[in-house]
Amino acid sequence: MKYQTTIETAGTDVPDWNMFVGGEWVSALDGTWADVVCPSRDNSVIARVPAGGPLDVDRAVAAARSAQPAWRALHFTVRQKALLDIADAIEAEAESFASLTAQDTGNALRTQARPEVNTLIALFRYFAGVAGEFKGTVLPAGDGQLQYTRQEPLGVVGAILPWNSPLMIAAMKLPAALVAGNTVVVKPAEDGPLTVLRLAEVAAPFLPAGVLNVVTGDGAIAGEAIVGHPGIDKVSFTGSSKVGKHVGEVAGARLAHASLELGGKSPCIVFPSAATEDRIAETAAGVLLGMRFTRQGQSCTAGSRLFVHRDVYEPFLAELAAQVGALKVGDPLAEETDMGTIINRKQYESVCAYVDEGKKQDGVRIVLDGGPTQPGEGGYYLSPTILADVSNDWRIAREEVFGPVLVVIPWDDVEEVIAMANDSHYGLAAFVWSQNLTEALDTAHRIESGWVQVNQGGGQMVGQSYGGYKESGIGREFSIEGAVAGFTQTKQINVRL
Ligand code: NAD
Repeated sequence: MKYQTTIETAGTDVPDWNMFVGGEWVSALDGTWADVVCPSRDNSVIARVPAGGPLDVDRAVAAARSAQPAWRALHFTVRQKALLDIADAIEAEAESFASLTAQDTGNALRTQARPEVNTLIALFRYFAGVAGEFKGTVLPAGDGQLQYTRQEPLGVVGAILPWNSPLMIAAMKLPAALVAGNTVVVKPAEDGPLTVLRLAEVAAPFLPAGVLNVVTGDGAIAGEAIVGHPGIDKVSFTGSSKVGKHVGEVAGARLAHASLELGGKSPCIVFPSAATEDRIAETAAGVLLGMRFTRQGQSCTAGSRLFVHRDVYEPFLAELAAQVGALKVGDPLAEETDMGTIINRKQYESVCAYVDEGKKQDGVRIVLDGGPTQPGEGGYYLSPTILADVSNDWRIAREEVFGPVLVVIPWDDVEEVIAMANDSHYGLAAFVWSQNLTEALDTAHRIESGWVQVNQGGGQMVGQSYGGYKESGIGREFSIEGAVAGFTQTKQINVRL
């Protein structure tokens, strides 16, 4: 397929990608543009996208509102078919989506970009499969009575995305919102707009004009305009807790529906039984995966606070350092690369500053001395850092670094480790490693997080509710229950026959 969204040009010109509003590819009404920088090639601009503002948001909301009545009126099997067709179309172009992801975000092709596209496809298929479940109930109220409920779409959903895995986060929101009968205005992050525009292009042939709209632009301008817009019935936001709190306030002030998927500083607890001689390598590999080192640690669910029982502390650190130290940092497009690049200079400098501060703390032990590395043509490359003997109250153990930086804290007593794990304003994910079922599940149940994995470190399970406790957010996605609660409202109808 030949895309309008392509970064290949005949000459050296940087291509301009328009945004998608009302079935048309349009530039910003005021004609302004923003550069999209490839993080793996220092300061190389690979495309320009419109710097959308409030007027562009108005136009997109108007298109979404006018498309909504006909979209919601369809039989659910028609929306189901559209989602299945979109999934097939993405699958046919999966490699090109993955390659674009690698260039747009710096996430490595093999370890991140391809799995991200697979999740996108899986979620379009999952929500197509449950399309008929957005349904109400009938009360057995006796003869002469018909008391029933309907799950009606909310209207227009404003979806605001972060840059760390744009397609996966789009996958959490768009298929669920659409299949429930809503129309959508999506705003990708400034640093990761390209794959979302490509998604709109691939999906467009299967959706009526205005059902899916993409507005690119700055968060404080276009994002703010979406959150405050009276024509947006629900804001579905994924991003930092700082911006998320503000979004919650603005949406709350006009009583708009809102779901907030925010940051994390997730604990990962290793019990001695998970680090026996025959298990230690597997557990370390799972801890590495859970820390999302292969996404440069740029994951809200990264298990970035590692608590290791003192009985196995030293051998476990040695095994983990050997495995993490062997990761290959390099060009996101290269097949052999395990870890790509940090998204931009600001984030790169912020991660470096956290590491510098962490290394200066009294009593810290530097187990893996990562930091700036410049393979290839420059770019924001950082190799992993592991700091041990950390105290749970240091800034590096409390704040979300959002980089390849793991802190390790020893523990002796289960009450002590659960207290430390829960001593956080975040509550998104957690990981428990133990061969003792009672110990593992008891710990999992006592952790204050929305998602706990036991003896595994992988990604979310399609079909299960995902979301945060505490300042990690409000609302659930990924599941039919989450989607019914998050993208519909209940109407009760009482009829005397
Ligand atoms: P961010 O909060 O800076 O930005 C997220 C989005 O919000 C972007 O599209 C941005 O343009 C927009 N935005 C910024 N200011 C806004 C405003 N005033 N009004 C409306 N929108 C605004 O986050 P980021 O740096 O893009 O992403 C990293 C953060 O996202 C991390 O904290 C990470 O933990 C979090 N995250 C959470 C999840 C989750 O599922 N819980 C998933 C991925 C990322």
